[in-house]
Amino acid sequence: MSALSPPLPLRPGETLGILGGGQLGRMLALAAGRLGFDVAVLERDADSPAGRVAAHVIVGAYDDPEALKALAARARVVTYEFENVPAQAVQTLQQLGVEVAPGPEALAVAQDRITEKQFLNAAGAPTVAFRGADTPDEAVAAAEAMGAPVLMKTRREGYDGKGQRWIEHARDAAEVFRALGGRPVILEAPADFTRELSIIAARGRDGATAIYPLAENHHEGGILRRTLAPAIVSTALAEQAERIAVRVLEGLGYVGVIGIELFELADGRLLVNEIAPRVHNSGHWTQDGCSVDQFEQQVRAVCGWPLGPTMPHARIEMLNLLGDEVDQWARLAHDPDSRLHLYGKRVAQSGRKMGHVNKLRPL
Ligand code: AMP
Repeated sequence: MSALSPPLPLRPGETLGILGGGQLGRMLALAAGRLGFDVAVLERDADSPAGRVAAHVIVGAYDDPEALKALAARARVVTYEFENVPAQAVQTLQQLGVEVAPGPEALAVAQDRITEKQFLNAAGAPTVAFRGADTPDEAVAAAEAMGAPVLMKTRREGYDGKGQRWIEHARDAAEVFRALGGRPVILEAPADFTRELSIIAARGRDGATAIYPLAENHHEGGILRRTLAPAIVSTALAEQAERIAVRVLEGLGYVGVIGIELFELADGRLLVNEIAPRVHNSGHWTQDGCSVDQFEQQVRAVCGWPLGPTMPHARIEMLNLLGDEVDQWARLAHDPDSRLHLYGKRVAQSGRKMGHVNKLRPL
């Protein structure tokens, strides 16, 4: 693509690029297809959930210059389905004239738990107290200063509860630091939460925002099991969450859909746990609970289209189908209130997200 590319919006018939070939990329590609776009997926694996529903698949590493060039030759707008996209890949695409959204600021913030919390607090979105540590001694000093228990997490590349451990005694911090790989860490004060909630929000290229109702999330072993949405909350809590979402979107000059994970405290305050600069597992309920779901919303936002409505028309219980739970598909297909979303993954390893089911409940 060149500086001569016509201005956005991207028009039906044009191609949207997606970095990543997992289930989020697949559902983005399906939503893009519904709006008349073709999709080009860049993914290491030649046989991926997103690749199998895309018009074009470019097989390569996310930082492979040739693969990025091939993607840029197809797509003048590129988005991504995971937050660990290398900064260099975004830069290369931008140099090739591609519009990448969400932008590099959002990625930089979401890739580093300390940068993330600093950004959030500066933007007026409160988090738990925290300290950073780069060595075992610093980890012990930080744990002593904060007072155990504290939760140690790697600064970068943790997900689904991986790369984190509770520390019950400050003196254990050195050993846990080493067990987590001897990499820079963050130590977090415990959030004494009554519920885990999340809010999915979007900002368009024109600065308009659209915010879905809060969702209530239940995890097992660090993995999301179940989402109930819209969550039953007071108006004050909903407004507090919306204020946080707008601050985060505006603070990042964001374009696209964002997932914001929240802790609800007993005193009614919300703290932000983390942000995901992409469509989010806890937003899958919108596929059957709202007329414009998070995937179409992401496509609309990054392509320069107007954002769609976020009003719910049903309450949804979303259940992830992990590992061989996906074998329940035949039974679930009989249930008129269950909407199945299967990812087409070939191997059902234990704990792997193979699909989800949205169970419809009256609002
Ligand atoms: P994360 O990888 O940061 O999303 O954390 C995974 C899960 O660990 C969260 O969904 C919470 O259940 C729990 N968790 C994370 N941070 C804290 C914290 N500071 N205090 C209490 N629980 C936490």
